[in-house]
Amino acid sequence: MINPFSYFSKDVAIDLGTASTLVYVRGQGIVIVEPSVVAVNQKTGKILAIGNEAKKMVGRTPVHIVATRPLVKGVISDFEVTEQMLKYFIERVHQKRFFLTPMPRVIIGIPIGVTEVEKKAVQDAAKSAGAREVYLIEQPMAAAIGARLPVQEAGGNFIVDIGGGTAQVAVISLGGLVISKSLRIAGDQLNQDIINFAQEEYKLLIGERTAEEIKIGIGSAFPSKEKKEMPMRGRNIVTGLPEEIMVTDEDIRRALEKSVRQIVQTIKITVEETPPELLADVMTKGIHLTGGGSLLRGLNALIAKETKVPTKVIEDPLTAVARGAGIVLENIDELNEVLAETEELEPPH
Ligand code: ADP
Ligand code: MG
Repeated sequence: MINPFSYFSKDVAIDLGTASTLVYVRGQGIVIVEPSVVAVNQKTGKILAIGNEAKKMVGRTPVHIVATRPLVKGVISDFEVTEQMLKYFIERVHQKRFFLTPMPRVIIGIPIGVTEVEKKAVQDAAKSAGAREVYLIEQPMAAAIGARLPVQEAGGNFIVDIGGGTAQVAVISLGGLVISKSLRIAGDQLNQDIINFAQEEYKLLIGERTAEEIKIGIGSAFPSKEKKEMPMRGRNIVTGLPEEIMVTDEDIRRALEKSVRQIVQTIKITVEETPPELLADVMTKGIHLTGGGSLLRGLNALIAKETKVPTKVIEDPLTAVARGAGIVLENIDELNEVLAETEELEPPH
């Protein structure tokens, strides 16, 4: 039956990423892409800004105003902050027009490995933000649906989602995750690797933003014929003065090598653990990479070399989870089996 109020109701799908949060509105598509950042006044504990506004404040405001990320390494670090952030994004798209305007249905993409307590916290947060029904979906599942992989068929779909805080590896078949692994090494760690490299190699103190620019500018996982270099600006730890050093793609590849190897190793182990009847499928369809971290140059080539499975980055990897969760939102009846299972938790006594 068609809900007579559905015209006014804004169902939404949210990708709760460690680096960015995306909001998809039913019938409209993705309407919000903002950093998963909350600015908090540490003296009062008050939340000052969320998303873009919060990110802008960092480093430009007094020191007691700090930016926190609700999801650190894929784990919800602060329930209160997560709740406020979800509430803020849901309320931005859900403007109540009438008293009777029904609250929206919300689907939230969460990292794999989130505990039952964390799942419950996310659901409660969305409910207190006005959601009528809240469903959760694991991010690799949503990404696979966003990539239009046949997740409900009896074949193997191999997906790797490399975000800011986590790299998630999953094999999906018949609407469920057959294997899932989460590694707390992803884009943020690669930035940190570059910061460490600058300090150890050149006594140069660089910021996270500079490190990320270098990673995106000349970072790679696999050598290519095209040589790249870029100035790295920071402060010399010894002299205390600003300094600029030219770094090459080779330098950065070396800096990233250890973390990249750990990500590749996790993928390799997952290939080895894939049941033979699904592996044949994976061999022909290949490994699908998604998430911002998958854009590191040559990563697909390195994974293909190490696993002997063809590997490619899916189209529009930064929005796959939100688009996939959006597809589930629009077709909830046919796709409800792909949603994450949640257990009923005992209420506290
Ligand atoms: P999350 O899902 O955790 O919010 P995203 O999928 O948005 O994360 O990916 C964010 C990560 O991707 C960041 O660490 C960012 O530096 C990295 N990233 C974005 N673009 C590129 C690129 N072109 N090359 C390498 N890393 C990238
Ligand atoms: Mg993500």
